[in-house]
Amino acid sequence: MTETHPEVLVAGAGPVGMFAALALAKRGIDVHVVDSALQPGMHSYALALHPRSLELLREVGLHEAVVAESYPVHSIGLFDQTERRAEVRIGDGTANSGIAVLRQDVLEELLEAALEDAGAKVSWSHRLARAVMGESSVNATIETLEKESRGYAVSHTEWVVAGSKDLSPKFVIGADGHSSWVRRMLRIGFPEVAKPQYFAVFEFVSDADLRNEMRIVFSGGTTNVLWPLPDGRVRWSFELPAYTARDPRREKDRFAIQVEAGDYPILTEERLRTFLAERAPWFTASVGEIAWRIVVRFERRRAESFGRGRMWLAGDAAHLTAPAGVQSMNSGLAEASELAEIVGKAIHAKDSGAAFEEYDRRHTRDWREILGLSGGLRATGKTDPWVAANGSALLPCLPGIGPDLAALAGQLGLELAAPASAGG
Ligand SMILES: Cc1cc2nc3c(=O)[nH]c(=O)nc-3n(C[C@H](O)[C@H](O)[C@H](O)COP(=O)(O)OP(=O)(O)OC[C@H]3O[C@@H](n4cnc5c(N)ncnc54)[C@H](O)[C@@H]3O)c2cc1C
Repeated sequence: MTETHPEVLVAGAGPVGMFAALALAKRGIDVHVVDSALQPGMHSYALALHPRSLELLREVGLHEAVVAESYPVHSIGLFDQTERRAEVRIGDGTANSGIAVLRQDVLEELLEAALEDAGAKVSWSHRLARAVMGESSVNATIETLEKESRGYAVSHTEWVVAGSKDLSPKFVIGADGHSSWVRRMLRIGFPEVAKPQYFAVFEFVSDADLRNEMRIVFSGGTTNVLWPLPDGRVRWSFELPAYTARDPRREKDRFAIQVEAGDYPILTEERLRTFLAERAPWFTASVGEIAWRIVVRFERRRAESFGRGRMWLAGDAAHLTAPAGVQSMNSGLAEASELAEIVGKAIHAKDSGAAFEEYDRRHTRDWREILGLSGGLRATGKTDPWVAANGSALLPCLPGIGPDLAALAGQLGLELAAPASAGG
């Protein structure tokens, strides 16, 4: 790897940035990945890989390793507070055709190890601080961050800039998450398209046997999600419709510290049991040790474009939505794969202008659909009335994008409305 002048600089070593870098490295492209954080995130966050993402991971040689660490999900059960109302099948029921449930930190660990094997180590504590597009390259400044410790009795640490260097990659991929610097440097707007949603998330040990199924529960106007995890735990996420956070969390924890309920009365075990009793009394499995709990705010936004010239966005840098369908990370992996292909061709002197335009157009269309800006899900003559009544809440819950999303909705007799001509 040429650290001074890599062909591509990837800002952000989340799943999307590392996947983009790996796909580039596999194409023989000289790539450098920087991340401003000290180390990778902990916890499960976006915990499921869509079938299409598994195929992309196969292309970079990670399919087997990922499947070995995952719990397979072959169906989505749709419930209300009293009973099961509908079902969606994922894949054809064979072992590798469904969704792979895998903690995000485990996925990131696998990606980082594969990147290192491909000769492209992540530079942690390195922040992209500036990027100016030139005719044939981008002039990028990378700052090295160091921790400065202050005081003893009340320990207080702060990050300081210990040094900086300039790079001139041909392209920059901004996979730098929801507050993306790359997006801001390109002055691309990131408007909110709907109110944020808050969820209380609990992961706990349980004897629940979910039989390879994730469950979505619409109860009293709230969306709630139950995922089986690979390690004998389950994750419940409960929407908090009236919640406004004192300290809205959106950052990834970098340390595996057990989060106690502390100042968050909404996260006590008693509240967990109340949520279950009120919203899913049919869940009679055990509630064992709570391994992780958090309140997360999920914003719904999309970038006004996916980039231009020599700087392109992928993943949370370009879009955010509600968590149930795990659409943002999975879409990000597809975007990363496409960008690796287009950038690879552009570096080998093929004119890729039209391919970049198509990248922008297709993902803009997909995200207008996911966020309901194209009309959302429409009931047809075949739609069950309960499903029809919950159609708009279902859109962010279905684990698919583009044609895959349309096919999952189709199983419920729902159609994705035709794209509107403008707006959003
Ligand atoms: C607490 C929590 C719970 C979540 N739960 C769910 C869920 O249930 N379902 C779901 O679908 N999604 C969930 N998510 C969201 C999911 O984690 C993201 O969609 C996913 O991480 C996006 O991946 P990414 O690679 O695009 O961005 P990220 O994983 O955010 O990675 C971006 C990286 O860029 C780095 N960075 C930022 N600025 C710079 C810079 N200037 N220079 C260099 N590096 C920079 C950051 O340090 C970060 O590591 C959750 C997120 C959080 C925080």
